[in-house]
Amino acid sequence: MSDFIVGLTGGIGSGKTTVTNIFAKLGIDIIDADIIARDVVAKGSPALTLIEAHFGSDILHSDGQLNRAMLRTKIFTNEVDKQWLNALLHPLIRKQIVTQAQMSLSPYCIIVAPLLIENNLTTLVDRVLVVDVNEATQVSRTIARDNNSKKQVEAIIKSQVSRQVRQSHADDILNNDDCLIEDLTSAVAQLHHAYLAYAAQKKANKT
Ligand code: ATP
Repeated sequence: MSDFIVGLTGGIGSGKTTVTNIFAKLGIDIIDADIIARDVVAKGSPALTLIEAHFGSDILHSDGQLNRAMLRTKIFTNEVDKQWLNALLHPLIRKQIVTQAQMSLSPYCIIVAPLLIENNLTTLVDRVLVVDVNEATQVSRTIARDNNSKKQVEAIIKSQVSRQVRQSHADDILNNDDCLIEDLTSAVAQLHHAYLAYAAQKKANKT
């Protein structure tokens, strides 16, 4: 088990995946909360059966997979349904994150979660790393990557915690505005060395 867990977060298009890939190349295990969130409602999962019972079989595509777009629309317009769904899924996601952290063999591991703060996953981690960019960078990089409209990206930014709130939770901040990938790579390497030291310290304190 990794003795030390880093929570990595940042707004849409901030560079979480880019930064995570650099840590992964350094041999660090990455636990991706988005992948886990998809896995817990995979076809045939107990959670999907409960979702079908709650919303009706219209919530499934004809192949039995969850119709995410329909579910998003339903919970967007119904706060009670949203709370019901969160109460079902959040504990399952949390449990799976903990299981994967326990299975990790790297000196420390990283939980990458766009909604680390919003979903209170900060309680699972030893340190919070925020990938930070200004809103103009978020919009331009996300549009370039996904072909989204400016309006769509701005709506997603509004649905997430503000940059200020995210920064207030950070132990470490990686600024990724006007940042060459080489510079980002060196900044990650520096953090990696610090995290190795923190992890070793935590392990030593335990023994
Ligand atoms: P999301 O929350 O939408 O999953 P993300 O935080 O994982 O996004 P990335 O996908 O890593 O963000 O980055 C967004 C886009 O910006 C990608 O196309 C990525 O290649 C690009 N990008 C990230 N960092 C830089 C950088 N320093 N210089 C130039 N482009 C960058």
